[in-house]
Amino acid sequence: MRVVSGMRPTGKLHLGHYFGVIRNWVKLQEEHECFFFIADWHALTTAYKNTKELRQNIREVMIDWVALGLDPDKSVLFIQSKVKEHAELCLLLGMLTPKSWLELNPTYKDLKYNLLRLVDLEREFKEKLKETVENLLKSLPFQITKEDKFKEHLLENLTQTMIEALFEGEIEPEILKRLNVSKKDFYETDTFGFLGYPVLQTADILIYKGEAVPVGEDQLPHIELSREIARRFNRLYGKIFPEPKALLTETPKIPGTDGRKMSKSYGNAVFFTDTKEEVEKKVMKMFTDPQKIRKNDPGRPEICPVFAWHKLFTKDEELVSQIEQDCRSGKLGCVECKRILLKHLEEFLEPIRERRKELEKNIEELEEKFLRNSEKAREIASATMEEVRKAMNLP
Ligand code: SF4
Repeated sequence: MRVVSGMRPTGKLHLGHYFGVIRNWVKLQEEHECFFFIADWHALTTAYKNTKELRQNIREVMIDWVALGLDPDKSVLFIQSKVKEHAELCLLLGMLTPKSWLELNPTYKDLKYNLLRLVDLEREFKEKLKETVENLLKSLPFQITKEDKFKEHLLENLTQTMIEALFEGEIEPEILKRLNVSKKDFYETDTFGFLGYPVLQTADILIYKGEAVPVGEDQLPHIELSREIARRFNRLYGKIFPEPKALLTETPKIPGTDGRKMSKSYGNAVFFTDTKEEVEKKVMKMFTDPQKIRKNDPGRPEICPVFAWHKLFTKDEELVSQIEQDCRSGKLGCVECKRILLKHLEEFLEPIRERRKELEKNIEELEEKFLRNSEKAREIASATMEEVRKAMNLP
């Protein structure tokens, strides 16, 4: 079976990426023909303004992927933007994709919803700032000639400053949580590229006639959309594309150090580039059961992120059930429990760090492998495009 999937190069990878995606890919590459790509064009859908670190981020992903067990000799590991045919197919599929299909995409709907909330927030700020602006004008030691214009200008800028301060965490974060608005760049994300990214995703899969796409539950609507687009194309121009299936995989959830979802933006992630000392600091600061205040208090491992990590990293099952038992009875304190975790976590991380170092030393060689793989991907992609052009009567 041909499997296709990609990952946006948004920075260094952390444990969440491994347990959520890479571990499954490593298994898949043993059984299937796999195409895994670094989705650098997709990274631009939300981060087009700041591309300074894009190249470095691509390099980090290459290193992390291979250090974590993906093998460029077994899977086709490549860079999306090196295979221009993705863009050509995206353009053609865009012609036949109704706009309403894209507007129903949950990610897009979320963005729109959040934008509306932001507009409300702006209005609220402006109302509250009106009086402050009036008072300020009265207290000025000089006369403003165009008072209305000046007021408008001031209000506009103050509101923007308030919103920026809010996103920078300088105003109670509770407001942001209440609004469910988490990105500063929302205003700028409402682009043609963002609306159309599911079409690019579809092109990414169909260009290799991908039969299966490993996804989590939240990605199911995207695959459904890809299937619809493939069906529409096949109906209009003849059957060229298989309808890709979602390969739903159970992935263990690894919480962040604070118990929330592990994410770079929450500052609760352990990265594969972290040193032993950095990891130790993070683990020793991890949240535990808040009811277990003193060492001998009984704890509830089922709600403790440290225990969730034990289940993933402490390979000795007997030890894990002992920890569970001793936590409940109050025999085990959190500091000791974290020390045990650290030992096992390091057994997992240290070899990865070593492999990373080796790969970093030979980065040119690794880049070369990705480029060769991109060429391999391109051969298949260009054969598909030949068929597509012919089917559509394009010269
Ligand atoms: S003893 Fe371990 S599992 Fe229990 S609450 Fe403390 S850190 Fe969590």
